[in-house]
Amino acid sequence: MEVLKDRYHRIHNYLRISLTDKCNLRCSYCMPEQVQFMPSKKLMLADEIFKLAQLFVHEFGINKIRITGGEPLMRKDAVDIIEQLATLPAQLAITTNGVFLDKYWPLLESIQLSSINISLDTLDSNKFKQINKRDDFDRVYQNIEYALNQGFNVNINVVLQSGVNEEELLDFIELTKHQKVHVKFIEFMPFSGNDWDRSAVFTYQEALQIIQDEWGEVIPLESKPNTTSKPYQLPGFMGDFSFVSTVSSHFCGDCNRLRLTADGKLKNCLFGKTETDLLQALRHGEDLKSLIIQNVKMKHQTLGGLSKMDTTQFDPKELSTREMFAIGG
Ligand code: SAM
Ligand code: SF4
Repeated sequence: MEVLKDRYHRIHNYLRISLTDKCNLRCSYCMPEQVQFMPSKKLMLADEIFKLAQLFVHEFGINKIRITGGEPLMRKDAVDIIEQLATLPAQLAITTNGVFLDKYWPLLESIQLSSINISLDTLDSNKFKQINKRDDFDRVYQNIEYALNQGFNVNINVVLQSGVNEEELLDFIELTKHQKVHVKFIEFMPFSGNDWDRSAVFTYQEALQIIQDEWGEVIPLESKPNTTSKPYQLPGFMGDFSFVSTVSSHFCGDCNRLRLTADGKLKNCLFGKTETDLLQALRHGEDLKSLIIQNVKMKHQTLGGLSKMDTTQFDPKELSTREMFAIGG
């Protein structure tokens, strides 16, 4: 078996697969209300997703796959895709906005999921409508509660933004008191078309300071290898929390991730422009292995070619040819 090592000696063993760019929500930081999605015929078919995933697992030792999107659970054949991926010898995880989870419990309870990441930016249903543009708070919250009661490993993903939801930081921390839940605070990242504004980024340092001011002692936890977040816990709390500090302090040095977009393009970085069309190559019987190896060799050291993001000096449109929902977050 070959390992996917880049020019900076990083070994890639984690693949995120986007099932679709479509979504039922319109989170303000991610998607405009009017959006042009990919035509369905451009998307990978279920068996093509499985063939590509199989190749990554069996030929390159990929040992973790995360299903994402857009909203992965919008895909009509999501059950077939998830069932197939679950047969591979790799950890399987999913990132979802949580709205449709209740339709999928029988499936998700029948397979081994290493984690479910559920996005929730507010604990207030009115604010949910403002940020996520739909009236689905209750359903998402109930699905989170169900997932926790069933013993799933649940991460709640919160995009923290100044002037939007930063005042709910301590309420989210409170959730970790009596429940074994992980709350992951994500810095607002720039993508083409998301009207990113540096002043709206609520940094991990600012958030940590507020938590320390309120609670005093904050225990740093040991980071797992290749983790993209900095984990912490409050003394005596059952759950924990972490920060994805891409903007203020990136974690590219340890990156082990590759991304397959819903239309079958391999991306070696969330912010990079390099894309390799694996779907067309698969359909035309081309040598997929060498295309994948070449793609990984082209990976930049940091942030798709930028040295840092904590600046007002760049235009997010320069970053990538795609929006977050079209890459697979
Ligand atoms: N629809 C699913 C969801 O929302 O969980 C999966 C796809 S979404 C693109 C994956 C993650 O990216 C979500 O947790 C979302 O909050 C996050 N995200 C989207 N746009 C972002 C941005 N501009 N900055 C930081 N995180 C973002
Ligand atoms: Fe949809 Fe997820 Fe983007 Fe929100 S963050 S619009 S739920 S893809």
